[in-house]
Amino acid sequence: MPHDGSDSDCDAETPPADGARPTVTRRALLRSVGGATALSYTVGSIAHARGRRRADLDQDGLVAAETHTGPTERALAATFGDQFDGLDPSRRELLIDVRYVRGTSVAAETKAAIEGLFRREGIHAQWLDYPKRYDRERFEREYGSNARTVLWGGNSFYRTEIKREFRNVAVQLVVVPGRSHPAYEGLVYSPWTDALGGGQDGHVNGFSVGNRAVVAERDQVREEQRLILHEIAHLALCHADDPQNDGVMGTGERIDLTDREWERLRRNLDNVRDRTGYDVLFRSCLWEDCLPML
Ligand SMILES: [Zn+2]
Repeated sequence: MPHDGSDSDCDAETPPADGARPTVTRRALLRSVGGATALSYTVGSIAHARGRRRADLDQDGLVAAETHTGPTERALAATFGDQFDGLDPSRRELLIDVRYVRGTSVAAETKAAIEGLFRREGIHAQWLDYPKRYDRERFEREYGSNARTVLWGGNSFYRTEIKREFRNVAVQLVVVPGRSHPAYEGLVYSPWTDALGGGQDGHVNGFSVGNRAVVAERDQVREEQRLILHEIAHLALCHADDPQNDGVMGTGERIDLTDREWERLRRNLDNVRDRTGYDVLFRSCLWEDCLPML
């Protein structure tokens, strides 16, 4: 299928300033993951990184009441309630903050499958469904089904709707219905992909930039799992053109990553950083793919 699995990721509308290689500012966003060092960077202190105190402090056999101690954790708990399982510096965390356009959803099986994969690999993934659903008409009018206006444009959904305190600790996954035009039904337009002549006239299933992604809702659970895992994995991974790679970054036959990719993802989850000096994150492979063409 021309657009199956295609979300190749270049955008001619966002060249780096003066065409120069982006400076690595290492603002180290998305430090939500990766143990004590990363967490301490994000929330300011190890103490803050303690999500729920499970310790039996007075050793009476009763676990102390769970509390969210840091401002980031309090904000997460206030917004996401019980979905938020706290942060623990002794484990690798991945918070998936899902934003839904009204009428869209992610199947429970998909969430469970992806959470299971991450946890199998030592990453404590947490699905955080944002309680507010975005009105479809308004969303279409203001942002459309365009990766740029959803994820990184000046007045993008991301910039307008995502509070700063959530930007750096979670990956934002925006679930949209996709275009209704018959030729591009259920797809999202990516100007980047279009510039490369990819997708279906630049239309793709999903698109990821650094710590955020947009996916068009999928009816089939398997396809949904494949797509969402693919976009989340883009936090640290690029596409694999090795035909032996049957995971979601390769041929997509298996809803999984290769051992090597998991290792790389684990290693790099706390290493996603702002590469532009702007509030946009790009993967190194994305730059490498695209810069020569700009
Ligand atoms: Zn991709």
